Amino acid sequence: MRHANSIKVLVTAALVLLIAALGLGIAVLVKRPGKEEQAGSAAESVSLPASSGETAPEEGAESTAETGEEPENSGETAPESASSGAEEASESTAAEETENPERPEDLTFLIDEVSDGDLYSYDDMMEDLASMAYYFPDRMTLRTLGETADGREIPEAVLGDPESETHLIFQYTMHAREYINSLLAMRQLEDYLLHYDEPVIGETTYRELFEKVCFHVIPMDNPDGVMISQEGPEAIRDEELRDGLEAIFEYDDDHGYVKGSREQYWRRWKANARGVDVNRNFDSGWDSYSGHGAPSTERYKGEAPGSEAESRIILALEKEYPVAACISYHSAGGTVYWDYGSSGDIYEKDKELVNIVTMLTGYSASSSVVTSQDAAGCSDYFVLELEIPAVTIETGSGSCPLPAGDLEELWEENCLVWPSLANRYGREN
Ligand SMILES: [Zn+2]
Repeated sequence: MRHANSIKVLVTAALVLLIAALGLGIAVLVKRPGKEEQAGSAAESVSLPASSGETAPEEGAESTAETGEEPENSGETAPESASSGAEEASESTAAEETENPERPEDLTFLIDEVSDGDLYSYDDMMEDLASMAYYFPDRMTLRTLGETADGREIPEAVLGDPESETHLIFQYTMHAREYINSLLAMRQLEDYLLHYDEPVIGETTYRELFEKVCFHVIPMDNPDGVMISQEGPEAIRDEELRDGLEAIFEYDDDHGYVKGSREQYWRRWKANARGVDVNRNFDSGWDSYSGHGAPSTERYKGEAPGSEAESRIILALEKEYPVAACISYHSAGGTVYWDYGSSGDIYEKDKELVNIVTMLTGYSASSSVVTSQDAAGCSDYFVLELEIPAVTIETGSGSCPLPAGDLEELWEENCLVWPSLANRYGREN
C-alpha cells in the first residue's frame, strides 16, 4: 500500500515533468478516473469535420505477446441505450451541420452497467457505439472497416479531424480472450465524449487536443473470437466454421495444447473463428515464424500474411491515412512492448512512444527483443516494415479473460493515454 502510494506520487511527478516537457505550459493534471458524473453538460455542439471517407479495408495482422489469463464469464448485460444497433460505415456528409441531438441528463451506456461477473458482448458494444454516434455526431464518426468470417462487422470510431496530417491507430482485442480491453476502449471513448469541453490535461480540453489529430479506434478487432471465448463455439453461426472449430479442438488436443477442461479451452480462446492468431498474421518475420502448424487456439500464423479480415482492416487503414503511431492493447502483464529489433531513427521514435506510455500508465517497458517475443505481430510490422512507431500495451494481471471488475483499475492506469498522445502527436504539426 505504501508502496502503491509512493509509486503514484512518482508517476504523478513524472507526468508533470513530461507535460511540462511537452510544452503544455500547465502542469496540473485533471484526469479523473472513475466515471464521474457526466454531465448533461457536455458542451454545445461544434461541428467537426465529421465526415471522413468511407472505408473498406479488411483484414490484416498484428503482434506481441502476452501472458496469462483467467476464467471469467457469466452474466450478461442488458440495459439499453437509446438508438439503434450498429450502423456502419457511412456517416454524414460534409456540409450538414452536425448538431448533437438532445441528450438525457443521465445518459449512460451499457458499459456503465458492467460489473464483475458480467460479460460485455459484441452486441452490447455495437449498441453503445451506435448510441454514442447518435448523441455525439460532432465528436465521433462510426464506420465499418470490414466483416469477419462469421459475418460480424468490425467497427471503427473516428475522433478528431479526419483531414489532419496526423493519424493514430488504437486497436483492441485482437486476441479473443483479452476482451477486457474492449471495455477499456469504450470507457476511454465515453470519457472523451462526455467530457469533451472539460480540462483533461492542465486546462486543455479534449476538443482542443483533438483539433490537429485524428484517432482511429478499433475497440474490438476480433469479435468472432470474443464470442467464442464468452459463449463457446456455439456462438459461431456459420456451420462450416463451427465444424472447423471442432477440428481445431481435436488438433490442439492431439498436440497437447488443450490445458484444462473443454470449457476452459474455449474460454481461453485467442484466435479468430478460423483458428488464425491474428497477431501472428503480419508480414514481419512471418516467413520464418513457425508457431503452431495448423489452425489452433493460438500461434497459427495463417496461410499468408494479411490473410485474415482482422489484420487486413488495419493494413488498409494505414494505406488510407498518414499514420503517426499505432497502439495495440493486449493483456496481461502490466508492461509495454516496444523495440522489435529496430535501429536508428525509428528506434528513437519508438523509444519516445514507450517512454510516454509507461510514464502515463505506470507499466514497465519491455523490449520485445530482449524478452524474445514471437514475430509476425502488428507492432513488429509497423515498426520494422513501415517505420511507424508502435507499442503493445499489456494491461492487467492474472489469467485472461480478466473479470470486468478489473476495468476501473485499467481505466485509472490508462485514462491519460489518449489525451497525452493526442497532445504529443497533434502538436507536432
Ligand atoms: Zn494478445
